[in-house]
Order: sequence, then structure tokens, then C-alpha cells
Amino acid sequence: MISDSRTEEAHPFLAEVSRLLHLMVNSVYSDRDIFLRELISNASDACDKLRYDAIAHPELLGGEDRLRITIVPDRAAGTLTIADNGIGMDRQELIENLGTIARSGTRAFLERLQQANGSSGLIGQFGVGFYSAFMVAGEIEVTSRRAGSGDAWAWRSDGLSGFTISPADPQSAGVLPARGTAVKLSLKEDARAFLEPGEIERIVRAYSDHILFPVELEVPGQAARQINTASALWQRSRNEVTPQEYTQAYRSLTSHIDEPALTIHYKAEGRQSYAVLLFIPGQRPYDLFDPDRKGRVKLYVRRVFITDDAGLLPAYLRFVRGAIDSEDVPLNISREMLQKNPLVGQIRNAVTGRVLAELEGFASRDPGGYQSFFQTFGTVLKEGLYEDAARREQLLKLARFRTTQGSSWRSLAEYVASLRPNQTEIYFLAGESLDRLAASPQLEAARARGVEVLLLTDPIDHFWTVLGMKFEGRPFRSLSQGEVDLTSISLTDDSKAADTPAKDADVKGLIDGLRAALGDAVTDVRASKRLTESVVCLVAPRGGADLGLDRLLQRQQPGANPKPVLEVNPGHPLITAIGRRIAETGKEEAAELARLLLDEARILEGETPADPADFVARMNRMMLRALGAR
Ligand code: ADP
Ligand code: MG
Repeated sequence: MISDSRTEEAHPFLAEVSRLLHLMVNSVYSDRDIFLRELISNASDACDKLRYDAIAHPELLGGEDRLRITIVPDRAAGTLTIADNGIGMDRQELIENLGTIARSGTRAFLERLQQANGSSGLIGQFGVGFYSAFMVAGEIEVTSRRAGSGDAWAWRSDGLSGFTISPADPQSAGVLPARGTAVKLSLKEDARAFLEPGEIERIVRAYSDHILFPVELEVPGQAARQINTASALWQRSRNEVTPQEYTQAYRSLTSHIDEPALTIHYKAEGRQSYAVLLFIPGQRPYDLFDPDRKGRVKLYVRRVFITDDAGLLPAYLRFVRGAIDSEDVPLNISREMLQKNPLVGQIRNAVTGRVLAELEGFASRDPGGYQSFFQTFGTVLKEGLYEDAARREQLLKLARFRTTQGSSWRSLAEYVASLRPNQTEIYFLAGESLDRLAASPQLEAARARGVEVLLLTDPIDHFWTVLGMKFEGRPFRSLSQGEVDLTSISLTDDSKAADTPAKDADVKGLIDGLRAALGDAVTDVRASKRLTESVVCLVAPRGGADLGLDRLLQRQQPGANPKPVLEVNPGHPLITAIGRRIAETGKEEAAELARLLLDEARILEGETPADPADFVARMNRMMLRALGAR
């Protein structure tokens, strides 16, 4: 042991920690009670970790195997201590775990807070953990002794500038001498209510009742007594559990503070026995779009917490939270081997099917509730369309879409039920925003025929739509790719009146002229069957990436994608006029007009002209000419 670590050593907080602490002290939470839940949940995690490590190393228990959490209010000293005989922390762990901000949750919290400008209900989604204790404490002393170690260490901080770390007497490491951690809070003047036994009991019942370890209240001079139920809620039968208990279990399993949108609770018996308690959160968890796409369903084996990283559900269900408790998975299997364990594989498969079936039930029982679920998590669920070929059909049934038909979300079953006569395909347009899609020229022919079009705005939509899948035998078809011919579907009465089809012969010269003028800036120029009002539009050539996907890919890796096709509306008077002019004046004027048309089509796609300065110069020349000032 290096000698200077034997004395007290001061460490400044990183800037981020200071900021977070400042926020905590100035109470971003309206509800200060949650600090107790956070500390109890840490104590419970520490007991879980010890119990897991003791499977391979029983000596770590050192004869003290009744793992528990003790709360000691000391009115005379004005302190509240939360202690556990769990895994404990050594010196380095105290510094790293309590003094830095490496945890993704905390970092995400700060980022969201910045976005939300410091004042938002969003904040409620985050468990800020240990630091929340500074809401009620002016000073915190954490004494800890790692299981299996003879040393104890004390970490102290006033939550302002930094912390100190110094050796402690191992025999006095909190209330639990064998090992573990004691967190002693010197309560602020306005937080002394948390010393009242009744108050502590109320908070524990409300937030931590179903922590699996006993939580004992130890008022000096009185016998300790257990104040939580400490039972695994998922082991009880459904009709014994109240909605409040579910909500509470949800909150203590997940650290979320919203209400679950859906609760799934059942026991599987048969080839394997396991209990399942899963929740779909009401709001998006902060880590939903983390690149690792990890789920957080906790695996227990016969009530022993093993890991929340066993991949118990596919990534596209990563928003589902909760616990699965197996009777059959071996306890001593390493965490790394779990993912490959066939029993775990069977559980994953069966539970995935069950979750999707429950979602179907939810959708038919409560369409409104289901719609808001889909608004919250649909983007993630749709990843399954791409990844889970075996469940595609089921997932397509679960998907909801914005379409050109009004503002509600539509299922594909509804879409197919309102197909127009002769319509054999499911049409869609994929892009970035609903407003822009709804205003796309590519929609015109469909609109003129009253054909409904799916408007897809999630990046994942670009990927599953190209897989060639069908719904009830109808293929999906992009309106911004290849040639789309809706002419076999009859026009609505309104559109019939306005329809003035051009003769192909009229446009042949024009198309040739434009082709020659644009050269390899486009893959092709052709007369459009999808435009009724607009002059031009761009579409992707058949076989390559759709326009939206192309834009997405270009952003990541600009370069070699096939150029778009320029479609012109042969029925539009401007096109007729341009055709006439090109026939009269020839090449130079054709080039000028062709470039302008192409830029116009680009702008309609939300892009910028290929050469903005050139575009403006050309535009100005045209205006001068129009004003007769040439
Ligand atoms: P989280 O629990 O989300 O990881 P916290 O801020 O609550 O974040 O705690 C930070 C870390 O400090 C924990 O991950 C754990 O490693 C450590 N820790 C906190 N309390 C205890 C405890 N009672 N026993 C052992 N380790 C603890
Ligand atoms: Mg915690």
C-alpha cells in the first residue's frame, strides 16, 4: 500500500459532477423522497452482486449470509444512515463510482436537461442515483469495506467542490462490520422530516417494497424491524396483485417514475418453468437510441439476480423492461455464456412471441392506448420488420402508419380494406418529414385517384421497405422509385374534369432535347405518369436505392450512387411551351431551361440546386427576359 493513500486525500469533482450536484441541490426533482429509493436500490444492487459472486466464491459471505439493508435514523446527531452487507467498494471503486460521471444514465440526464432547458417533465424519467442524496444532505460520508478485503475506506463530500478519501476502521464500517457499505447523510435543516420512522416507512413502502432483500428500520434503542415485503412480485399470481403494486414494482425494477403503458405478467410451466413480469414504459427510456441497442430485462435464477444483459428479448423490443426468473437455468453459468445457453434461447423465443401477442391484444382492446404506444416505440418495433424475418407478418399487423388519408394512424389491414378497384399494390413514400412528404409531387397521380399512400418518416422505413415483403399478398411500392403507372385505377370525379392527357408524340422532341441538355446529371428524362399538377419531379431509377434512402446514404458517404431520373409532366402547359421553344431555338436555350427544371425538381425534394450561384444567375436572366428587359 502506498503510504500517502493512508492519509486523507482530497479530489476535486469533474466539472460535470459539480454541475449535476448543483442541479440536485437546487432540486430538479419536485419529489425529494426519491433519494431513499436510489440509495436502497444501490444497496440492493450491492447485495445482488455479492450473492452472484458468492455462487463461485462462497467464502465471500464470510459466515454472514443474511443479506439485508438497514436504515438508521439518529435524531440526536441529525443523521440518516443507509447500510447494506453487500459487495462493498474498495478505495479505487469509491473514487470511480462516486466521484466521476462515467455512467451513461447520468450523462444522458445532463444532455436531456440541456435540451429541455432545465425545466421539463422529461427529467422525471431519470434515476440520477447516488447524487440525489445531496438534495437532502449537507454532507455525505460513505464508509465501505469490500467483501474479502480487510481494509475499509471513508469517502466524504459536501457536494460542492470535491470529496476526500481516507482509511477507516474496518470494525466500524457502518453498522455492518463483516463487509458492505454505510451511507451516512447529515441531513439539511429542512430535511429533518426524513428522520421520522413513520416517514421512512411510508417512503419505503411506496418505492421499495418489492426490493428482494429485507429493509430493516433500526431506531436507536428499539429492536430492528423489517418494513418492506421483500417478496418477488412476479412469483405471486396475477389476481393477488393490485395495479398500485405493479406500478411500484415497475418503478423499483426500472428507476422510471412514469406509469407502465402495459404490464405482462405470467408463469410459464412445461419444458421449462419461469416467471415473467414485463412492462412497456409510458415514456421513452433515455437510452432507447443508444447505439448498443441493449435491452434491460433482468434475468433472475431462482430469485437470484444474474444480469440485465442476457439478451432476453430481441433488440427491437429493447423498450420492454422487467424481470424473468428461471427455475432451470444453471446458477453457476458465466454471464458471458448466457447468451448462448439453449434454455435462455428458448425463453427468448417464447417470451418474444408472448410480447407480440400481448401487443396485438392491446391494439384490439384499446386502440387509442395502442396508438400512443406506437407513437412512442413504433420506430424501434419496426426494426423487427428488417431483422426478424420469422415474425415479419406479425410485426406488419402491429405496425401503424401515417397516410395521405387524414391525420390518424392506420393499420395495413385498414389500408388494404380501402384499396381502390384495380389497385394491387401498397404505395408508400419515404422521407424525412410528414409535411414535406404530404406535399410531394410524386403523390399527385395517387391523389387524383383517391389512392391512399403510406407516408414513412423513420430512417428504418427505408430499410424494411426494400426487402420485397407483402402484406396479404400485396407488395409495397415506392412512389419515388422506378416507373409507377396508376392509369388502370380510375380517376376521382374531380380529377377527371382537370385531366388533359398529352400525346406522346408531342413530348418526344422535348424529352430528347432535355436528355441531351442534361447529359449525365440524370440517369434519364421521361414523361411522367405520376404527375398531374407539378411540372417536374425526381425519382430514383429502378433497382437502386429509393430517393430517401439515397439521401440518407449520401449524408453518410457521399459519392457513387446512380443519378436520379427527371420526370416531366407532359400535360402541363409549361412543359408544352418549353417543348415548343426548344423545337424553335435549339440547343442553348434548351440547356438553360433543362437545368432550371432539374433544379426546380431538386428544390421540391428539399435539396439545394447543384450550383446555387449558377441557379440564381439563370433565374435572374429569365426574369429579365420575362420583364422584356433583355
Ligand atoms: P447506478 O446505481 O445507476 O450505477 P448510482 O449513482 O446510484 O448509479 O451509483 C453509482 C455506483 O456506485 C454504482 O454503480 C455502484 O458501483 C456504486 N455504489 C453505490 N452505492 C453502493 C453500495 N451501497 N454498495 C456498493 N456499491 C455502490
Ligand atoms: Mg443507483
